[in-house]
Amino acid sequence: MARPALIAGNWKMHKDHQEALHLVRDLGLRLNATLTSKRVEVAVHPPFTDLRTVQSIVEADKLPISLGAQHCSHLDKGAYTGEVSATMLAKLQTRYVLVGHSERRALYAMDDSLVQQTASAVIGAGMVAVVCVGESTEERSDGLTDEVLTRQVTAAVRGLPDNAAEDLVVAYEPVWAIGSGQAATAEDAQGAATHIRSVLASVLGTAAAKTIRILYGGSVQPANTEELLSGPDVDGVLVGGASLDAATFTEIVAAAVRCYP
Ligand code: PEP
Repeated sequence: MARPALIAGNWKMHKDHQEALHLVRDLGLRLNATLTSKRVEVAVHPPFTDLRTVQSIVEADKLPISLGAQHCSHLDKGAYTGEVSATMLAKLQTRYVLVGHSERRALYAMDDSLVQQTASAVIGAGMVAVVCVGESTEERSDGLTDEVLTRQVTAAVRGLPDNAAEDLVVAYEPVWAIGSGQAATAEDAQGAATHIRSVLASVLGTAAAKTIRILYGGSVQPANTEELLSGPDVDGVLVGGASLDAATFTEIVAAAVRCYP
């Protein structure tokens, strides 16, 4: 059972399309020298306005980078001002879409049901849904981590089509670790990933659960990547702040290549 690693950079609301052009060119050059393992895949998730620019460079320069988006609507078309559909993203050769990032859940009222419908739309459009789950500081201190993960994961994957496992990644992103400089320990990340895999097994079956990649996200840096990836159930990292600098993100990829030679 060999799950390739996924190293994904979430640019959030940073980099206009010109800055994106420079960043992805720089990253591409660095990855051409660093990404020496076929077992490591790299994705970037720029803002919507950058997607076309990034996709054109990746295609023209044949860069080893998959294109990701940060969100999309659960609906396909219609009078939904400001929204972007999964079909629109798929047309731009987007491969991954983050679904239910904690910032979307907290700031834009994305609940478990909407996460499920959005994941369904992403998979239905032929892309991979990267479903983000994770407990808050309070939930952690109340000892509710496993309960929260069970609820979020079950709600997100229940009702997905039978073969959805192929197009599903789960990112464990404890809210207290995001942008705080306080990453989870490798033991905590592995513990949460094991729990998530057992929940996936109970809903989708053991065989499917074994194929689904589970990422860790929250204050990932070059210095903690190897340790975080040491857990057998942690199949990659979702990186926020440290993905905005090509050199730093490449160091994270280099650490992943050491773990997945
Ligand atoms: C994120 O928001 O997905 C994230 C992991 O952020 P950071 O790496 O900055 O903690």
